[in-house]
Amino acid sequence: MNNEYELIYEGKAKKVFSHNDSEKVIIEFKDDATAFNALKKAKFEGKGKLNCLISARIFELLKKNDIPTHFIKLKSENTMIAQKINVIPLEIVLRNTAYGSLCKQTTIKAGTVLLKPLIDIYLKNDELNDPLLTRDRIQLMNILSSQDLDLIIDLTIKINEILKSFFYNIQLQLVDFKLEFGYDFNNNIILGDEISPDNCRLWDLNQKNDTIVSLDKDRFRNDLGGLIEAYSEIYQRIKDFI
Ligand code: UDP
Repeated sequence: MNNEYELIYEGKAKKVFSHNDSEKVIIEFKDDATAFNALKKAKFEGKGKLNCLISARIFELLKKNDIPTHFIKLKSENTMIAQKINVIPLEIVLRNTAYGSLCKQTTIKAGTVLLKPLIDIYLKNDELNDPLLTRDRIQLMNILSSQDLDLIIDLTIKINEILKSFFYNIQLQLVDFKLEFGYDFNNNIILGDEISPDNCRLWDLNQKNDTIVSLDKDRFRNDLGGLIEAYSEIYQRIKDFI
C-alpha cells in the first residue's frame, strides 16, 4: 500500500488503513501466519492474497443471504474496502465437529460430530491469552448488552447454516470457525474480520478413507506442510462453484 493511506491498526494477519471516506477502511491481508498466540510465526508468500479473495467470496455469499457484513468490495487481490467498525472484543467460535482446544479442555474425542453446534466465546485479548468466557463474565465486563449478545449468537448460527451447506457442496466439512463482530456508524452490529482457512477448520471430504485432511491453518499449526496448496485448493473450489 502506498503512503497516501494512514495505517490505523496492524494485527497479526492484517493491516487496516484509513480511507478518504471516514466511514470506510482499507484492509490489507498479510502473508504472515501466527499460531498459539503468536508463539509460532512464519510467512507464506501468497497467503494474504488467497485469504482476501476467499473472504471476499464468502462475504458476498453471506450478503446474498441477508447477513450484514463490513465487506464493500475488493480493491486489489490482497486488499478490500470495508465499513469501519468499532470491533467488539470477543471471538465467537462455532463448532460443528470437536477438534482443537475443545478436545484439549474436555473429554470429547477429536472428530466427534456434535449433535448441535457449540458456541464458545473468548475474550479478544492477547495479554490474557484469549480466555474462554461465560455469559456472566461478559456481562460483568460490560462488553455489550445481553440483547446484542443474543443477536450475535443468532447471526453466528445463521452464518453456520449458510457456510456449512456451502462448503459441503464443494466437498469440505466445516469443522469450526471464529467470527468477530462490530458496530457500524449507525450502531448496527455487523460481521467484521475475515472468513478464510486462517479462522475456519475445513476438512477435505474427497477422501476414500476416514483420514482427516486439513485444508486450513492446522497445516501450519501442526507442521503438516502444503499450506499454500491447501488454501489455493479452497479458493479454486469456491471459484468453480460460485
Ligand atoms: N481461531 C481463530 N483465532 C484464534 C483462535 C481460534 O481464528 O485466536 C479459530 C481456529 O482457526 C478454529 C476455531 O477458531 O477454526 C476454533 O479454534 P480452537 O478454539 O480449537 O483453538 P486452537 O485449536 O486453534 O488453538
